[in-house]
Amino acid sequence: MVNTTIKTTRSQEIFASAQNLMPGGVNSPVRAFKSVGGQPIVFDRVNGAYIWDVDGNKYIDYVGSWGPAICGHAHPEVIAVLHTALDKGTSFGAPCLLENTLAEMVIAAVPSIEMVRFVNSGTEACMAVLRLMRAFTNRNKIIKFAGCYHGHADMFLVQAGSGVATLGLPDSPGVPKSSTSDTLTAPFNNLAAVEALFADHRDQIAGVILEPVVGNAGFIPPDDRFLTGLRDLTRQNGALLVFDEVMTGFRIAYGGAQQKFGIVPDLTTLGKVIGGGLPVGAYGGRSEIMSMIAPSGPVYQAGTLSGNPLAMTAGIKTLELLQKPGTYEYLERITQKLTQGLLQLAQTSGHGACGGSISAMFGLFFTPGPVNNYEDAKKSDTALFARFHRGMLEQGVYLAPSQFEAGFTSLAHTDEDIEYTLAAAKQVFSNI
Ligand code: PMP
Repeated sequence: MVNTTIKTTRSQEIFASAQNLMPGGVNSPVRAFKSVGGQPIVFDRVNGAYIWDVDGNKYIDYVGSWGPAICGHAHPEVIAVLHTALDKGTSFGAPCLLENTLAEMVIAAVPSIEMVRFVNSGTEACMAVLRLMRAFTNRNKIIKFAGCYHGHADMFLVQAGSGVATLGLPDSPGVPKSSTSDTLTAPFNNLAAVEALFADHRDQIAGVILEPVVGNAGFIPPDDRFLTGLRDLTRQNGALLVFDEVMTGFRIAYGGAQQKFGIVPDLTTLGKVIGGGLPVGAYGGRSEIMSMIAPSGPVYQAGTLSGNPLAMTAGIKTLELLQKPGTYEYLERITQKLTQGLLQLAQTSGHGACGGSISAMFGLFFTPGPVNNYEDAKKSDTALFARFHRGMLEQGVYLAPSQFEAGFTSLAHTDEDIEYTLAAAKQVFSNI
């Protein structure tokens, strides 16, 4: 039933040419498989829970294009509306009704958002939100958490997660000290550290930005009191609380982590799911803050393709599909089944492991744990993860090629897919 070896000749040829065309052969670093070794697989098409490579191999996909594919890849209803939208053109660079529709849906869903601005990526959303935080508070410093990733803008590349963590990079060359001197960092789930930063930099901190459930250092949920504590601390210190829900928005729950945990931040960034697989990002919050954005206010931010009809169309249909009753119950159930199954298999085969899931987001660390922050995550046996990753790939299961990335399920993943994955994992664990 499962492959033992896979033919990857065509992948290897294409990736070899890519090395001369694009840095490292890729357009985003983690794709290069550096931390798991071996050649990356070059893909040809996606559908539902599956992804096919250029050599014709089929995999169950737990990357989901890094988050957007929550309804399954190439959902027929999303593709159908995109065909219709395409006939009307790809970009207007001017207002269109679709922007209103998606804005209304986002505002109705996300508790903190009264007004929203669409951009083209999560990075852009986080850059813009930082400018807005500073403008609104008239303060420059921000607090972020080690292992959290908020896109690749200069001021966030301090102890950043995602590719920075995967590749074990120091802070990036090309980022001047002046850009990061106002970025303060604390360990995730450590309120005392945040309190100390507020005490040391009284009246200078514009706000705190975090992934409310970390996905870019592997999957790390917040402690019971962490989010409430941050809400209190930011209020007490006249600072803003910003949830970067680029990954968790419409994934942890329809209204994101803020709905799931009942903590309303001042501002929120979104991306991934709300573009249904097309390039999109968004930021939003209280009208009082958002009205500072140009042209209603003086804080400048703009974009040629922002709010384009294709991304809006895919986003609207994706959110409509997610509104169907039972969506999040289903995602919770199959993801738990997967994660608990993997954990049990790892443990019974003698490998120290810990992990968990919330809704359609999961993670497994090769350390006995517990993992409450990036320091804990770094205790993972990354060499073991690399062998596990390669083994799973050969069994037809595509996991994120890094110990420090969360995994994603979708509405298209069936019980059979999960059972196949667990059978594959059983075999792999016995071999590594
Ligand atoms: N914030 C978070 C929490 C993310 O997970 C990501 C991307 N993985 C970003 C920001 C940046 O988004 P993008 O890659 O679309 O620029």
